Formats: sequence, C-alpha cells, structure tokens
Amino acid sequence: TLPKTPDIDKLAKDLRAGSRAALARAITLIESRRGDHQAAARDLVQALLPDTGTAIRVGITGSPGVGKSTTIDALGMFLIERGHKVAVLAVDPSSARTGGSILGDKTRMALLANSENAFIRPSPSSGTLGGVAAKTREAVLLCEAAGFDVVLVETVGIGQSETAVCDMTDFFLALMLPGAGDELQGIKKGLVELADMIAINKADGDNVKRANLAAAEYRGALHILSPRSEHWHPPVLTYSALTGTGMDELWQKILDHRTAMSASGEFAARRREQQVKWMWSMLEQRMMARLRSDATIRARVKKTEAEVADGRITPALAAEQIAEMLR
Ligand code: GDP
Repeated sequence: TLPKTPDIDKLAKDLRAGSRAALARAITLIESRRGDHQAAARDLVQALLPDTGTAIRVGITGSPGVGKSTTIDALGMFLIERGHKVAVLAVDPSSARTGGSILGDKTRMALLANSENAFIRPSPSSGTLGGVAAKTREAVLLCEAAGFDVVLVETVGIGQSETAVCDMTDFFLALMLPGAGDELQGIKKGLVELADMIAINKADGDNVKRANLAAAEYRGALHILSPRSEHWHPPVLTYSALTGTGMDELWQKILDHRTAMSASGEFAARRREQQVKWMWSMLEQRMMARLRSDATIRARVKKTEAEVADGRITPALAAEQIAEMLR
C-alpha cells in the first residue's frame, strides 16, 4: 500500500542505495492506476534515468514445463556467486484473468528467493499486454537504478508476449525440450526470428542423446533462415538446469553476444529503437485511455461507432472524427 502522496525524493534515494523494499514500493507505484500515482511514477523514473541502462537485459521464453523457473533459479545463483545482482521480472498478460501470475512466483525459485542479491517480481496484472509490457519496461529501469546488473524477464511461449519481451531486452533466449519434432513448431511460428539463442534444457541422464539430436535439428532449421544480424548467428546449445551442466557456456554466449553487438554498434542501435518504440506505444495507450476516460468523448465515440455499424458513415470518416476529438 502506498501513502497518498509518495515522497519521490526519499523513494529514489532509498532505491539508489539498493533497498529492495524501496524497489518493490516503486514498482507498486508504477503499477498503480491512480492518476496522482502515475504522475509520481513518471517523475520517479525520469529522476532515476541517469542510473539506468547498465544491466544485461535477458528475455527468457519457453512453454510451461520446459524449465524456466529452474533455469532462472540456477542461472541466477550462478551469477550471484560471480558477484552479480539479479532481478527477475515476468510478462504474463493472462495473469489478470487467472487472478495471479505463475511466472515470477517466488516459490518457483527457491534459491533466488532466499538470496539478498536477488529481486523477484511477478507479472503486473494489468489487463492488456500493452499495459503489462509498459509496466515491466519501467520496472527494468527501476531494477537497474537499484543496482541489479542482470535483469531476467520471463515469459511464456505466446507470440505477442514474446515480441514484447524481446522488445525490452538485449538478448532473447528460447528454451526448448529434448526430442524435437513438436518443438520445431517454434521455428515456424517465428520464434526463431526473435531468438538470439536456442538452449535445450534437461540434457541430463537418459535425455542427453535426445537433447543432442534436437540441437542438431534446430541447427539445421536455423541454417536455412537468414539471421537477424550478420554479426550474430543464434547458437543452439544443450544444458541442464538441474545439474548445472552447460550453464557457464550458456552465460558465456550471452556475454559473447553483447561483445559482438557492442562492437558492431547494434547494441546501442537496438536500445535506441526500443526506446522510441516504447514512446509510441505509451502514446498510443494514453490516447486510447483518453478516449475511454472522458465521459463526453466516450459518449460521442459511442455514437460514431453506431453510425459506422449502421453503415451511415465510413470507418475512415469515423476515425477522422474521433481523432479530431482528441485535439
Ligand atoms: P517452467 O514451467 O518452464 O517454469 O518449468 P519448471 O522450472 O517448473 O520445470 C518443470 C519440471 O521440469 C520440474 O519438475 C523440474 O524439476 C523439471 N526440470 C527443470 N529443469 C530440469 C533439468 O535440467 N533436468 C531435468 N531432468 N528436469 C528438469
């Protein structure tokens, strides 16, 4: 719960000092729908902006059961042992409907949840994907300002959410299961166009052979697609979140990618593009919010909508009239 007028200066100061409680409060503030909270949140994020941008932002996707939480727990601890501070966020627009997020649930990441150097936050439960994504993007910035130098953003294997997470991260990691076949569907669905790496989890015990076979199939499939960057061909590797085998290689690839992208200038270009895209998406949301919140406009839009439905005016003219209302 938030006080009526949150003390932004104090919140910013505590957050910069690395307080996880302050970070949690700040994220609650950006998630609030109240107008005064939203204004305060904008001031807060703007004030913290100079302290942001420094983390390695990694998006992680995969179908339920692929081992996302096990992977994040293991990778997170691997990084913390090497001196990093790790934040875990989640994008799950369905959580509004299901009344809670399974992604980013602390009980699914037992080791990280008990580490002082980790911060875990479930998906915001605002209705639309656009709303969830906007809040998570700002949460990434807040985590960075609080000193978290690795931010992992988890999502499920659903097209739109994956694009949203890809748009807010530097590296997009797709987790797959051994025993390709069905999983190769992911390639057709365009996931591979987003993925900077495919990692096949559960390469342990009896699964090792099947994991290697799957890796070979994915490599073959990736080969016929033209890569997103001429400086980075998405690698395919196998690992086990359970035993930790291959975890160091997995992280090393993420670092290699950063090195390659920084050298070619694509790293900065991707961040710049993401920021501009973000601005337009926020603007779009604000305009839509205005159409919905102003009672007079809402009534006029309804009337225009009815006229379109009845075929009395064209959709083009209606759009023009509605755009005029926003002036
Ligand atoms: P999520 O739904 O993608 O978050 O998947 P979970 O992390 O909850 O893992 C689903 C199941 O797979 C659990 O029973 C895990 O114990 C198991 N699992 C996760 N990683 C591995 C692994 O590397 N090897 C094996 N054998 N099982 C794993």
